[in-house]
Amino acid sequence: MAIGDNMIGLTRPEVEVWSPRVVVVLGMNPSLFTGPGTNTFLVGTGPRRILVDTGQGVEAYLPVLERAMETAGCEGIEQILLTHGHVDHIGGLAQIRARFGPIPARKLFGPGEDTAAHPELRPLADGDRVETEGATLRAVHTPGHAPDHLCFVLEEEEALFSGDNVLGVGTTVIPSEGGDLALYLRSLTRLIGEAPSRIYPAHGPRIDDGVARIRQYLDHRMERERQILGALAHGPAPIPELVARIYVDVPRALHAAAAHSVAAHLTKLEREGRVRRLRPGPPLETTWERAEKSAGAP
Ligand SMILES: [Zn+2]
Repeated sequence: MAIGDNMIGLTRPEVEVWSPRVVVVLGMNPSLFTGPGTNTFLVGTGPRRILVDTGQGVEAYLPVLERAMETAGCEGIEQILLTHGHVDHIGGLAQIRARFGPIPARKLFGPGEDTAAHPELRPLADGDRVETEGATLRAVHTPGHAPDHLCFVLEEEEALFSGDNVLGVGTTVIPSEGGDLALYLRSLTRLIGEAPSRIYPAHGPRIDDGVARIRQYLDHRMERERQILGALAHGPAPIPELVARIYVDVPRALHAAAAHSVAAHLTKLEREGRVRRLRPGPPLETTWERAEKSAGAP
């Protein structure tokens, strides 16, 4: 999931070669939150490849995947790796298996997930390496957008499959359910430590300045935090009012998603003792205020 005005109307090729060992296959599921759709990837150089993510399960995806396999010069899929359990990444698993047979699929099991709950999946953990001909993928646990989120380092290219943590356009949504902004920022910092040259995101085009883009993401969140504290310096306010004050450049259709982002920031700031609830209530009706002593300045 993503948010950003330039996600709207962005189109992407259905199949594109991104490197000698990476072919991107569009999930064919465009929407307000997926932009042009979810990117899935054929990875490797051999007759059978790794597939990273499965799209949402829309019918139009399978013929595009088959065309991508022709472009890539492969005959089959060796195994499936999932970045996380959101439906636009895992939703295509059943239809791919119905078409190609019982391909093994792996993901990191989040809280309450195990093989009993997911007999169709095998667990993948932080640091695990998965190899196929021509490619080695290393799993990096990166919670924040979702608790079960993995990125994958493609070791032969020093490239990163970033899932929903870093996007080709727009910014990542921190959902109220399963999202955690403080963890997300920690995950971004960890990804900078991986020093990726290129980033292959789950939505939007390839990113060729990996580390610089992750730094931009961190700066963007710091700027939002400053804006929220600045808006609250004018007096207590509920989330919709903060959104209207801060997201002046974002279409109103995206304000509900922006409210999630502001809520994520407020939750983080509350934990840090920098804001508090003046009048508690349902999320959108709760009035927030600054908790710091020097509340006059942002
Ligand atoms: Zn997601």
